[in-house]
Amino acid sequence: MKIKTIAALLSCWVVLLCLPGCGRKPHAGRYKIALVHSYEAGYPDAGRTREMLSDALARRGISCDFREYFLDCDDLLPAKEEERCSDFIDDFTRWGARLVAVLDDQALYSLMACGNPRLHDLPVVFGGVNYPNRKLLERYPNVTGYADAPDYLNTIRMVERIMGKSRVCVINRNSVLDRFIWDDLTGQLRGKGYEIYCGQIGMHVSVHRGLSSALPPAASGMSGENERFDTTAIVRLNGDSISLTQMAWTGHGSRTLCLFTRREFIAVHSANFFRNPCFETVNEGFGMSDYALGGYFAPLETQLDDMAQGIAERLRGGTPDRQVRYCAKRYVVNWHVLQRYGIPLSRIPKEYTVMYIPFTERYRYTLLYIATLSGLLLLLLIVFLIRSLSVERRRKREAQHSLRYEHETLTLAISGSSTYVWRLEGEGIICDPHFYDLIRHPRERITLDEIIHFLHPDDRERFYRSYRASENVHTHKGHYRFDFTGGGYEWWELRYSTLPATASGGRHIITGLLQNIQDVKDHEEELIQARRLAEHAELKQSFLNNMSHEIRTPLNAIAGFANLLVYDPELSETEKREYAGIIDTNTKLLLKLVDDVLQLSRMETANMSFDLRRESVRHLLEAVYRTHSVLIKPPLEFIADFPAEDAFVHADRMRLTQVVTNFLNNAGKFTSEGHIRLGYVRLPATREVSIYVEDTGIGIPQEEREMIFARFYKRSEFSQGVGLGLPICKVIVERLGGRIEVKSQVGRGSRFTVVLPCAE
Ligand code: ADP
Repeated sequence: MKIKTIAALLSCWVVLLCLPGCGRKPHAGRYKIALVHSYEAGYPDAGRTREMLSDALARRGISCDFREYFLDCDDLLPAKEEERCSDFIDDFTRWGARLVAVLDDQALYSLMACGNPRLHDLPVVFGGVNYPNRKLLERYPNVTGYADAPDYLNTIRMVERIMGKSRVCVINRNSVLDRFIWDDLTGQLRGKGYEIYCGQIGMHVSVHRGLSSALPPAASGMSGENERFDTTAIVRLNGDSISLTQMAWTGHGSRTLCLFTRREFIAVHSANFFRNPCFETVNEGFGMSDYALGGYFAPLETQLDDMAQGIAERLRGGTPDRQVRYCAKRYVVNWHVLQRYGIPLSRIPKEYTVMYIPFTERYRYTLLYIATLSGLLLLLLIVFLIRSLSVERRRKREAQHSLRYEHETLTLAISGSSTYVWRLEGEGIICDPHFYDLIRHPRERITLDEIIHFLHPDDRERFYRSYRASENVHTHKGHYRFDFTGGGYEWWELRYSTLPATASGGRHIITGLLQNIQDVKDHEEELIQARRLAEHAELKQSFLNNMSHEIRTPLNAIAGFANLLVYDPELSETEKREYAGIIDTNTKLLLKLVDDVLQLSRMETANMSFDLRRESVRHLLEAVYRTHSVLIKPPLEFIADFPAEDAFVHADRMRLTQVVTNFLNNAGKFTSEGHIRLGYVRLPATREVSIYVEDTGIGIPQEEREMIFARFYKRSEFSQGVGLGLPICKVIVERLGGRIEVKSQVGRGSRFTVVLPCAE
């Protein structure tokens, strides 16, 4: 089934491939065509004729093999011609010719006149025939073709338009065809105002008014230089010796020329006798000889094209509606002959076709235009290139100049300071000559390992890291300690840029500066020291200020009320108890202050030991909650927000309780209504626990959120406490490995959170 389908598809494909060709070619392969010429083998137009006919047929999709026959009619008597033609017919019939193509009158006439019956069997197409023999043609309906009947009248008019009124000599012998031609010629010209002379030149010259006045009598008036004719005269010349002698004289007349009416030996060669170019009424020899100027006829190209059309028709089985068709005539002129005789083109009427104009002549102006344009473009291109080159040179000069300037500036800049230029290429470093002097190294490449040797051991790791990253990092700046001179380590700044591998052709290059910055470092250190001292002094001062302020208030209270108790005997028992209570409170305050200061100082110097244990956050906060639920009184609500799941931390229970207690005390101090919430949240993502105290109090402005962790910071002088609570909390939480976070909104409340790592 499958094979059948494939076969069907293939055959369709083959049919489709063949289809386009079917319409175009009536017959596959090449056609055999017998081509019969009237003239001898190798006559001037023979090769050209075959080529042009073959091309014209090829243009119509017909390729053919020619077998050529040459009748050589000029050499043979009529009987001999016919005999030869009969032989031709036998030969091309044997050969299997598909069609017979016949050129010119003689061959056509002899083929039909020879009486070989086989001529009836083949289609015959003729071309270039001037006088087709109607009687014979009636006997051969298979013979069709194109004729070019000579138009003597228009040819003579053409002679007059180009050459002026002239004496036109016609070589006309006594053959049948010659007589026929003469009769036709005289018939066409009769009554049209021309003088027609038949016979000896001397005779008609003496009777012709126009000629006799212009020609000197000694030479029968035939060779005058300034001939002027009123009428164009047509003179028939015989091929006999007298006529030829007269022609030799006549031909040199400035107004005498020859008109070819057919191609034959004497006619062709007699052109040599004439000073002027010859004209033709037939196309034979046109374009080949350099004295046939032109005429009114169908040129060979037209005749052969028409003939090819006729052959194609017949080969495709068609029969023309008329046995003899006529080729379109044109006034044609040979450009080469015009040149030879110095006839300007301006003398040639516009409607005439000037043929064989060389390419360079025909397109002279176009070529001139193209050449000028190309020259101009070339000139423009050269100008453009020169300009670009000079711009490029100028840019290069400027770039070099600025490079030199930059180099000078750089050299000047680095010569004063201890700065050295270096470049790392591959494994080697190329340095500033001064640097080699500094490290007492010969002025040649130095390896990276040699440089590392000078580097402080503590800085090596950092240096290697930066070196490894140099391929990816464009610029780098680093400070390293080097001991280049053996006099101890000094700080150097290493600055470099990496040039990518492509720009430097293969490997990346690091280029940079090495600058001694020990002085800068020394100054920096001095400044740091000075700042530390200043800070210390400032801290001390502020600490003392704060302390004296914080101590004086309770001390004043204690001293004042103690005096009252001692020196006022009228005090009631109640008053005494009240004053004693005040003294006690202020004593406690003083003690707390001293306690806080000591605690902070111990913690900062790391003298305070932390007893770290795994603590349950829930248990710790429950204890704190119990204590504070007594202290936080209504209308404040105290909320415990403990999740069901417990959390564990590594902490000093007492210190963590102190932190939470401090948060709760602050919340109590700054919240008058609403609630205080104590709770914790597990943060599984970060494996942390956050313990928070949230209130609905006065809140802390954004700008103060950092400051509240500074010592002695209190927003209001009148608020309770000395401002050491939060700093202590911060130190404790940091020692426990956690952090404090504050969220607050002024007027809405605050939330203090301790975030600690989980103990699990
Ligand atoms: P003290 O030890 O005097 O209580 P702290 O260091 O604990 O001082 O607190 C410093 C300051 O931080 C307080 O004076 C107050 O201005 C601010 N502060 C602390 N907690 C709160 C809070 N919950 N609400 C509003 N302000 C607070």
